[in-house]
Formats: sequence, C-alpha cells, structure tokens
Amino acid sequence: MIEEISANLYKIEIPLPMSPLKALNSYVIKDTERNLIIDTGWNQEECRNAMQTGLKELGVDIKKTDFFISHLHADHFGLLSSLTTESTTIYFNRPDADRFRSGFRLDDFVKFARLNGYPENELEAIRQSHPGLKFRAKEGLVFHITEEGDTINVGEYAFKCVATPGHTWGHMCLYEPNKKIFVAGDHILNDITPNIQLWSDEWDPLNEYLASLDKVYELDIELVLPGHRGIFKNCKERIQELKHHHQKRLNEIISILEGSSKNAFQIASQMSWDIICDSWDLFPVSQKWFATGEAIAHLKFLGEKGIIRREMQGQKILFSMARL
Ligand SMILES: [Zn+2]
Repeated sequence: MIEEISANLYKIEIPLPMSPLKALNSYVIKDTERNLIIDTGWNQEECRNAMQTGLKELGVDIKKTDFFISHLHADHFGLLSSLTTESTTIYFNRPDADRFRSGFRLDDFVKFARLNGYPENELEAIRQSHPGLKFRAKEGLVFHITEEGDTINVGEYAFKCVATPGHTWGHMCLYEPNKKIFVAGDHILNDITPNIQLWSDEWDPLNEYLASLDKVYELDIELVLPGHRGIFKNCKERIQELKHHHQKRLNEIISILEGSSKNAFQIASQMSWDIICDSWDLFPVSQKWFATGEAIAHLKFLGEKGIIRREMQGQKILFSMARL
C-alpha cells in the first residue's frame, strides 16, 4: 500500500472500487513543519479508510498537513472534504477552482450530450451513476490559488507549478528541477491513456492537451509520479506515444466520417476502445460516457482545424468532412 519513492516522499495507493483506473496514487511528502499531500481519492468510505491507514502508518499529523490537488476530478479531489482542518492550505489552480465554485452542472452536460446523439434512456443512467457527481467533495472549500511558475516548498523539495491544461481546464503538475521529479496528475500516465473529454462548446481541450505535452517534453525529467498506475522513467518516449495515440484517433474519426455524416455518439460507437467488451451496447454506462466525451474532444479539434464541419439537423449536431 505504501511505497517510499524518494527521501521523505511516499506513495499511498487509494483504491477506486469498480473503476477501470483501479486506484489513485496519493503522494505524501513528510516534513517537520508542514507535510504535503498531493491528490486524495473519492469522497467515500474505502478511499477514506485507505488514506487514514496510510497516514497513520507514516505518522503524518493531518493538522500539520497541506494539500496540492492536480485537478478537479473527484478521484483526485473528492476526499479533501474529509481531510481538511482549520489550518489546512489547499493549493489549487484557478480554472478548476472556478468550476468547483460554480457547482457540478450535470444538467448542462446532459443537454450537450443530447445534442450529440446520446440516447435518452442512457442519459438517465448517467444521472444515477456519474462518479464525478457521486463522490465529489462538499461545497465551501477555500483554495490558495497557484499560478504557473509558483514554488511550493516542503522539506528538501521545491516544487514548481506547471500549468498543463487539457485533461481539465486548469490541470496542474509539479516539477522538482533539482531532483528531476515530475508529479504528473492525469496529464501523463504510463499504462493507460489520459482521457481528454469535452462536454461543452467553450474550448478545445485536445489542442491545449497536445500543447501541454510539448511543454513538458522540454523539461529535464528522470522520474514521473502519475495519478494512476505505476511510476515510470521514460517521460519523453511516453509523451511521443501519447501524441501518436491522439493522431491515430483523429485519423480514425476521419475514416469513419468518409462518405457520410454522423453524430458524436454514433462516431464513438464505431471507434476502437481499449476495453474488454464484446460490443458497444455492452459497454458500462460510465465508459460509454467517457468514450463519447473523448470523441467530442477530437471532433472539436478537427472542426477548429477546418478538417470537418458541423451542422444542426433537427435537434442534433451532425459532423461531416469539410468540402475543399
Ligand atoms: Zn482526472
């Protein structure tokens, strides 16, 4: 459960029951003054128990502990509700903090999903089971906003904040230039691909994500501490693989759209997904939702580049190849 990664820097594995992610990596840096915990887990029982057991084993006093949260998703952020005390500082990026303050607007997501061809009966299932809704943090948390280039000092570590938007609006990583350690959140994972989703029309997350990958590529990194699965060393190689993965996805969508127009849900159902399931219809509810969000992010990217076009047909958005 607990692994020492570097001097006074530990990983606690927080289980995420029923999630294909399996677990969240929470990183704990111990210091005589204030400890720092990076990312937490869902706001539910198993996560809370694992965190409490881990902190006890490490001898961490929660009253002398601050938090850095890489991004707003409930598996990183939700458990904060159970862990903060009166003296806690929560370091968090501004774009995600703004979204948190405006509340979880599932109705807006559902409306957008409907425009993109999501079937009505499946939308009801999403309302019941969306983990972002079920395991989110309680309202009212107060943040210390971190900006690009800010430094967070803890013990012998001086972490620089690196803005890496894409996986969420304001996703932020930490980089320790002397130790060449990079705390990646969900920006770069090794065994799985970070999910890039879009559920509104207001930004182009894939474009921002690819730019964030290029930015991190320039850093001198020896060890990557990701939000899920194993820690790893070959950061530059992994960045190239991730870029290649998205290029393949974009090409796949182009070939699906060749000769006919389709909505995003139909396109997602024809894409190849890394999941052991006999057919699209048998995908678990949440996986279908993530897949469609991912398809929409790629469609937005292609639309912004002028490669495909979109039009309203009745109550649905249809995509087709742009005529040159
Ligand atoms: Zn995430």
